[in-house]
Amino acid sequence: MKLSRQFTVFGSAIFCVVVFSLYLMLDHLQLDHSKNPSNNGQLSILQEKIDHLERLLAENNEIISNIRDSIINLSKSVKDGRGGLEAGNQSRATMPGAVLTPPLVLPVQPEDCQFAARSYSKSAEGVQMLEVYDLLAFDNPDGGVWKQGFDITYEGHEWDQEPLQVFVVPHSHNDPGWLKTFDDYYRDQTQHILNNMVVKLHEDVRRKMLWSEISYFSKWWENIDVQKRDAVRSLIERGQLEIATGGWVMPDEANAHYFGIIDQLLEGHQWLEKNLGVKPRSGWAVDPFGHSPTMAYLLKRAGLSNMLIQRVHYSVKKHFAAQKTLEFFWRQNWDPDSSTDILCHMMPFYSYDIPHTCGPDPKICCQFDFKRLPGGRISCPWRVPPQAITDDNVQERALMLLDQYRKKSQLFRTKVVLAPLGDDFRYTEASEWDQQFQNYQKLFDYMNSHPELHVQARFGTISDFFAALRVTADVDPLTSSSPLLPVVSGDFFTYADRDDHYWSGYFTSRPFYKRLDRLLESYLRAAEILYSFALSSLKKHDRLNDFPSVENYKLLTEARRNMGLFQHHDAIAGTGKDWVVIDYGTRLFHSILNLKHIMVNSAHWLVLKNKGEYSHQPSVPFLQMVTIGSKRNTLNAIVLKCVPVCLRVLVVYNPTEQERLTVVTVYVNTPQVRVQTAAGHAVTAQVSAVWEEPTQASSEAYQRLQSKEGGVKQEVRLAFVWYGTTSNRDKSGAYLFLPDGEAKEYSPKRPPVIRVTRGAIFSEVTTVFEHVTHSLRLNNIQGVEGQSVEISNTVDIRGEFNREIAMRITSDLNSSDRFFTDLNGYQIQPRRMMAKLPLQANFYPMTTTSYIQDEHLRLTLLTAQSLGVASLKNGQLEVIMDRRLMQDDNRGLGQGVQDNKITANTFRLLLERRSSSDAREQVRPSSFPSLLSHISSMFLNHPVIPMAVGLSYGHLHTAPYRPLRSSLPCDIHLVNLRTIQAGEGPGPSEEAALILHRRGFDCTFASRNTGLLCATTWGKVSAINHYFICELFSLSPSSLKICLLTVMLSFSLFLSISSICISLSICYLSIISVFYCSCPIEQQA
Ligand SMILES: [Zn+2]
Repeated sequence: MKLSRQFTVFGSAIFCVVVFSLYLMLDHLQLDHSKNPSNNGQLSILQEKIDHLERLLAENNEIISNIRDSIINLSKSVKDGRGGLEAGNQSRATMPGAVLTPPLVLPVQPEDCQFAARSYSKSAEGVQMLEVYDLLAFDNPDGGVWKQGFDITYEGHEWDQEPLQVFVVPHSHNDPGWLKTFDDYYRDQTQHILNNMVVKLHEDVRRKMLWSEISYFSKWWENIDVQKRDAVRSLIERGQLEIATGGWVMPDEANAHYFGIIDQLLEGHQWLEKNLGVKPRSGWAVDPFGHSPTMAYLLKRAGLSNMLIQRVHYSVKKHFAAQKTLEFFWRQNWDPDSSTDILCHMMPFYSYDIPHTCGPDPKICCQFDFKRLPGGRISCPWRVPPQAITDDNVQERALMLLDQYRKKSQLFRTKVVLAPLGDDFRYTEASEWDQQFQNYQKLFDYMNSHPELHVQARFGTISDFFAALRVTADVDPLTSSSPLLPVVSGDFFTYADRDDHYWSGYFTSRPFYKRLDRLLESYLRAAEILYSFALSSLKKHDRLNDFPSVENYKLLTEARRNMGLFQHHDAIAGTGKDWVVIDYGTRLFHSILNLKHIMVNSAHWLVLKNKGEYSHQPSVPFLQMVTIGSKRNTLNAIVLKCVPVCLRVLVVYNPTEQERLTVVTVYVNTPQVRVQTAAGHAVTAQVSAVWEEPTQASSEAYQRLQSKEGGVKQEVRLAFVWYGTTSNRDKSGAYLFLPDGEAKEYSPKRPPVIRVTRGAIFSEVTTVFEHVTHSLRLNNIQGVEGQSVEISNTVDIRGEFNREIAMRITSDLNSSDRFFTDLNGYQIQPRRMMAKLPLQANFYPMTTTSYIQDEHLRLTLLTAQSLGVASLKNGQLEVIMDRRLMQDDNRGLGQGVQDNKITANTFRLLLERRSSSDAREQVRPSSFPSLLSHISSMFLNHPVIPMAVGLSYGHLHTAPYRPLRSSLPCDIHLVNLRTIQAGEGPGPSEEAALILHRRGFDCTFASRNTGLLCATTWGKVSAINHYFICELFSLSPSSLKICLLTVMLSFSLFLSISSICISLSICYLSIISVFYCSCPIEQQA
């Protein structure tokens, strides 16, 4: 037995920002009765309000009845004399000191429920992906030369009236890390591509090039001289070079959280604006392994009009080709009109390489990849080499290529055809530029000089192509609609490129790094917000020069870029070489340390009571975040040491826009600990041992949870299962999941060790198996975090051979074949388990949330890291937690996944009673989490951040810093408050970007005892303007220019990111100043 000398204090700290104003608000809304349970007069006011609402919203019966139920329950509890403090699933601990009591009934405005409750109406020619999946047989017949398609024919006279327009778009796909690290690729390939580009595009104004990764472009830019920069600017001005998408990377669309996607897009777009004055118009995503509508939405919000996608299931591509729906307006599932529509081109064939882009026959198209001319380093696998174009063969070669273009155009509704011309890291050598551009020019010249061919072929950028498409398809620029093009809603997961090769493995591959990324994202957001406030406050006090603002901004920029780099589709996906993974991991870890540095620096200024005492001393920091390695997932738990007796001051930073009752964990070196608030009130604390090794053994089973939700006992069973891999030649690897049938139950050789912890704040059962240390924790607090069970699994499969371990949750819910997973933490996509698909096809990405439900209950699994999830049986949810695979899966990586680490996975399991459900819901293509689920997920992903005041600073006084007067409305999330870089130099400007997200939520859940400390207010913050005024704004309007009206207009991503705001820009632009804040810091002694 080994018991560490460390102990843990779990203080239940209370972050009441301004309790008073919150209550004012509640009084105003007339819904708070926990405060005054015997007041029947207020109940009658409530009744009046309900009557009024009924008149207003006669059509919205379910919501009204929901509220009425709450009122009836409330009346009962008042009569029973029970009042507000009703027990949840556990008895509540009483907490001395300032106790913030959540309202008994969540004050939700019925109008705010309408978005999710709205009935779904599909447009006449709308394509819904869930319905497409119903239609398709998912057979895989041989299609001839176009193996996964069909034979394409044409008459030959189709173009007599309107010629075929061909746009050949040269591109080079540069992965920011895959087989080589980012820096190695840059040194060996990318810099040469870009250097040659400047020379070779200038040789002929008809030549074009597309570039998309700003991570590479900006690195190159730093290394080139003024003349070259001017040359690049002129290429852009002349339309020869187009920057597509303009993100830092081409992000993974399955695992990346929308915070990360937005941030890397901002970083890229900001760079472009500052250095080139360029705004991207079209998106270009040829390589992410499946496509998410979140990306479509964010690109649209970032001001792009068009986008291109490539890796879509081959059966879906074939169906879309047959229906001629490969060009469409991509609309969000939840969009009632066309406001989210973005024009999208889906590439029809197998790959984005040249053999698969000129037309259906790769054997022919390969002959038009002039890098493969005989004598070169690569050749055509179809064994017919390209021929250099000469006067003798030009006719024959042009007609051969034109035949492919014509066939390709048969899959589309207009006479505009796109033919990308490129591949991974193409155009490195000057000779390759000559080979491609000279030979193609000869072909174009021939085609264009023969009017009887009815073709106009040329080099183009992707926006040249879309511009022609828009004209031909008669796209209305105002409404983004076309009489010719359909509307498509839904997503393109799970991707299969051939046979039963589904790319569901990468939803989990390298989970350690997926978790590390999420941690970095939460630190980045927290540091951004704190830094923005500190800068503003320092300026107000005229102390900016005493603060390392530029040095910290450089670190912040580096962290943004490291996080942005990791959103790349081979990075967060876990599909890079081992040493590339280490390179990414080092960057992530390095930036986590730097962000802590920024947070303690910023918090130092903000919490100091007497600003006159401020002095920045890097060698003796005022605040510290010293952590210890721990097997539990407590990377942000800090160490407070006392020898022998002392008083330590703890500053706790709540980085969310919600007040919260939460548990704060701190490591101490003595069990003799008392915790007090700054005012001297005792805070309930629980001291627990930190175990380094398991001790007592027991053979009893543990994996059983019971919940008494709504008076009904609901049993939820938790188990672990193993997947192996098939005995066929093709086996599971970093990308692919190819299991050997259904999972087998985990049966450990030794009985597990079980540890039980009980206390005033939490109770926990930890079960130690050979491969997983599994903890279930119930927090005994009144806040949101007391509403769900925390699950923590520390997985270690380093000794295994071709195995994957999953957590399976089995319940009595009658969910049938339906389940729900989130897309990028941004929206929910309904799913169906389909028996006609192989097992691996039924796994989907889960960034933050998945759930199953029946008429009465919903069981939600919230996650703090992206993983693959499925619901293979009625009532089940199953998450793959780690994979160890000994071989390559033939997608170019050239290795298996054997660099497994001990990985902490953290989840929360939430069981909610539904007050109503209807049959329409079964066909509705959208679904929404409850408010409790939204905020539980936010708290899971954004834990409070404790910092310790250094021992030598015990004499300095601290004061809470509260930029918000109360919580923001429950449905509004502050995505980021991000200081913008100055026009010149690497330091900060006086502008910051405020990004808000109004979240759609489902009101058909119990609104009693949710633990939430917020309300909803019709999505209008102006309605509660007078309840909280941002200190910074009101005290000093000139301190930090209030939020970027100018930037926002020129860069629409800054507009609040809203799933549901109906009159978005107007209502939110008017309240910018109020939203300009969010980081209550509460201190404790
Ligand atoms: Zn790639």
